[in-house]
Amino acid sequence: MPYDFDLFVIGGGSAGVRCARIAATHGARVGIAESRFWGGTCVNVGCVPKKLLVQAAEYGAFAEDARGFGWNSTRPAHDWARLIAAKDREIARLNGIYRQLLESAGVAVFEARAYFLDPNRLAVGEASVSAERIVIATGGHPVRPEIPGAALGIISDDAFFLPELPRRVAIVGSGYIAVEFAGIFAGLGAETHLVYRQPLPLRGFDTDLRTALAEALAEQGIALHPNLHPLRLEAHGSTRALHLAEGHVLSADVVFFATGRVANTARLGLAAAGIAPAASGAIPVDPARRTVQPHIYAIGDVTEGPHLTPVATAEGHALADLLFGPAPRAFNFSNVPTAVFSSPPIATVGLTEGEAAVRGPAEIYLACFTPMRHNLTGRSRRTLMKLVVEPPRGRVLGAHMLGEDAPEILQGLAVAMTAGATKADFDRTIGIHPTAAEEFVTLRSLTRTVGFSNAAE
Ligand code: FAD
Ligand code: NDP
Repeated sequence: MPYDFDLFVIGGGSAGVRCARIAATHGARVGIAESRFWGGTCVNVGCVPKKLLVQAAEYGAFAEDARGFGWNSTRPAHDWARLIAAKDREIARLNGIYRQLLESAGVAVFEARAYFLDPNRLAVGEASVSAERIVIATGGHPVRPEIPGAALGIISDDAFFLPELPRRVAIVGSGYIAVEFAGIFAGLGAETHLVYRQPLPLRGFDTDLRTALAEALAEQGIALHPNLHPLRLEAHGSTRALHLAEGHVLSADVVFFATGRVANTARLGLAAAGIAPAASGAIPVDPARRTVQPHIYAIGDVTEGPHLTPVATAEGHALADLLFGPAPRAFNFSNVPTAVFSSPPIATVGLTEGEAAVRGPAEIYLACFTPMRHNLTGRSRRTLMKLVVEPPRGRVLGAHMLGEDAPEILQGLAVAMTAGATKADFDRTIGIHPTAAEEFVTLRSLTRTVGFSNAAE
């Protein structure tokens, strides 16, 4: 056989592991290289440990909420070191499972960095391997802003391993990571500041959600600093001074830059493969995830987004089916649902009101209420639910929620929307009572009509 492998995958994260494993079960001779940790970002420094920390933070508020239900509880003290140790044990368990999944599927596993020697040959640690097809699934890494002293701040990879909970933390950014970690640190008792350059957090999300989120973050005790750019970071002993535009200075024990991620394409030998990354660092691909080299593919966070684990695994699975499976499947990334695990969480699928309005008329159905439990706890917590509907057929274009269990609720709505559900389908669905979710099938009153043609006329 001319090549050592039918397929070689660079990167053992969500995208690479799924692609390698499924290709091997289709009978391909597959190798995979991972230089850092099996399971990649999601398992080690992303979704999984993040969700565990979010859950940890919720318990403190639950303990206080319980008083409203007759429990004579007081807020218990929290032990950060014990939480991190428990999280580390769980991650180690998952690492082992990922490696085992690959081995039991018959994938040749390399624990080493891989890089191109030529378009069909890779250096993998000390070895050199050849492959008929190669998949780049090297993910991305967090980046700091280019300001003086940025190295004095931490990034998300560090946040999971802090030796202790900082007393005061300033988080720069207002994307997914910034908002989620603000909730974690505040929930665990740290004085938390969120510094961002937009008027509202989570640019790109529906404006009603963003507004409700800003209120919820403030309600949680997080100090919001909108419309501010970071200028420089200084160390004064163990304290950090974050200098912001307009002469503002924030003092904190930890400054956390949650300012985006960039694709892992450096030291990959891309030039030897004849591939050039885009200006953003991402590897350009066609809809079938093929690079300019027809036998080299790129999937997951190393390409342009959306950068979400289910997207990465879906790409890996679909590519393995396409190359080696009996029934190739098409990539379909319309209506990708997503959640932000803030407190309370946000979940969203489909178009925002603003996106729908520029395409044409859209009807907006909106509900905002206090969830039942908080009438007893006294905690000021609101739930917001919103549907964006396309007249006249009534197709639901967008569903958005901020509130407890939003991610669990929106997953089901994403199925309905993928199947093309209309507002009439929502209306004829019987609710489950008493839940917050039932509100999505009882949104009767039109809140407003938006869009360029003023459909109301
Ligand atoms: P990765 O998981 O990053 O895997 C790439 C792998 O390639 C890494 O293990 C890396 O070590 C390895 N590698 C790189 N270069 C080489 C090389 N030359 N040789 C060998 N190996 C190499 N998404 C969600 O859907 N839900 C969430 O709740 C969520 N939370 C997140 C929280 C945080 C803090 C972060 C940072 C991300 C989160 N994400 C979440 C995003 C999600 O983690 C990523 O979209 C997903 O991990 C991408 O998978 P991937 O396989 O493309 O890349
Ligand atoms: P995001 O792209 O979501 O957010 C980056 C934030 O940093 C934005 O608020 C941006 O501001 C700000 N920013 C960027 N550069 C600067 C700068 N120089 N100065 C000040 N602010 C700056 O990135 P994250 O790092 O939060 O997350 C990376 C990706 O990981 C996400 O986009 C998502 O795909 C994935 N992820 C998914 C999660 C989930 O599914 N729950 C959780 C965590 C991560 P501005 O808006 O003004 O550009």
